[in-house]
Amino acid sequence: MSDYHIETKCVQAGYDPANGEPRIPPIVQSTTFKYDSTEHMGRLFDLEESGYFYSRLANPTCDCVAKKIAELEGGVAGMLTSSGQAAIMMTILNLCGAGDHFISSSALYGGTFNLFAVTLKKLGVSVSFVRPDAGVDEIISEVKENTKLIYGEMVANPAMSILDLDVFVKAAHIVGVPLIVDNTFPTPILCRPLLMGADIVVHSTTKYLDGHAVGIGGCVIDSGNFEWNRYSERFPGLTQPDSSYHGIIYASKFGSGAFIAKMTAQLMRDMGCSPSPMNAFLLNIGLETLHLRVPRHVSNAMKVALFLKNHPNVSWVRYPGLPEDPQYLLGRKYLPNGICGVLTFGVKGNREEAVRFMDSLKLAAIVTHVCDARTSVLHPASHTHRQLSDSELEKTGVTPDMIRLSVGIENSDDIIGDLNQALSQV
Ligand SMILES: *Cc1c(COP(=O)(O)O)cnc(C)c1O
Repeated sequence: MSDYHIETKCVQAGYDPANGEPRIPPIVQSTTFKYDSTEHMGRLFDLEESGYFYSRLANPTCDCVAKKIAELEGGVAGMLTSSGQAAIMMTILNLCGAGDHFISSSALYGGTFNLFAVTLKKLGVSVSFVRPDAGVDEIISEVKENTKLIYGEMVANPAMSILDLDVFVKAAHIVGVPLIVDNTFPTPILCRPLLMGADIVVHSTTKYLDGHAVGIGGCVIDSGNFEWNRYSERFPGLTQPDSSYHGIIYASKFGSGAFIAKMTAQLMRDMGCSPSPMNAFLLNIGLETLHLRVPRHVSNAMKVALFLKNHPNVSWVRYPGLPEDPQYLLGRKYLPNGICGVLTFGVKGNREEAVRFMDSLKLAAIVTHVCDARTSVLHPASHTHRQLSDSELEKTGVTPDMIRLSVGIENSDDIIGDLNQALSQV
């Protein structure tokens, strides 16, 4: 599959049925797998042989889909998780334990911000936040002896700021830690961070990859490029023997697949944030049309952004596809084919006006979701980011008047018509 274009991979990668096997990846709705000998099963438990034995660790349906996303991102290995949050948590915990530290861009999804600033802190993992447009020196000035990784969202939800990827890649590699990028908003159709130097990509597949709002899910994709052995003292979990598997060393035994192998063998085993095979099957159907849907989201969002920009009741629009956006040039550099279908804007007036606008919409629905085929809308300050204080809100790039609009793939005239009638109520 690696020679084919990304559109072909969306449709066909990850599953190659043999003669007489199902054309579609079957839903292997089984928790367990049968073996003829005690010894054979033992070898699987020792990671001496590959094979399925329990769906908490691995399942054939989920594996096909993880492999497809890995091919789309240009990675060597992937793992599906039960949610985007689980993918992010597992990625951090695969490298950090109590006493460790990491650096993150502050422009983050609200749930990720809470995970980093509150929950991981309780577990003894600390984080330093830097601006998404921080320079190399500024990022490196936050490095400590126990720093294990650098993290950022390619296009931040909902701040819409673009990560200056070259800067973050450079900083990470000067320090000798992997750069982890949340690529949920652009999807591999618009941006492939692994091909530009990032080491690991995470996704909330709940968004565009699924695209139809039918299943919560996440995934972790490894480029296979980070040289764990070169910094072996910093990453003992990958370069020192694991006593729970008879002393295997992941970086030696699994080579470029070490990161995902360790994450599966230790974290899925112990924490079990596994996706269901049924959800993986649904995700795969979404992926088959990703390359058709994403360009439509982008072109609709561009038309909507232009409409909003010129509307008298709109005070500001944040969409890096607009030439006057402060990050237009960064967008051209990293996302030349479009940013995504999400944009934010402010309704003129106060919070009440924003609420009246939202409540007047007929086609666009108020839902806690984005990146869906259906146009949807949300007020981050009163919904997703409700738990954050005003100063935390500011750090994540959310203002009280901000409306987050996820432009769907309906007819753009109908979407604009709905926005227009709701804005006239303000
Ligand atoms: C939604 C989202 C998440 C969290 O994913 P879930 O699937 O909801 O757990 C993480 N990062 C970004 C950028 C998101 O949009």
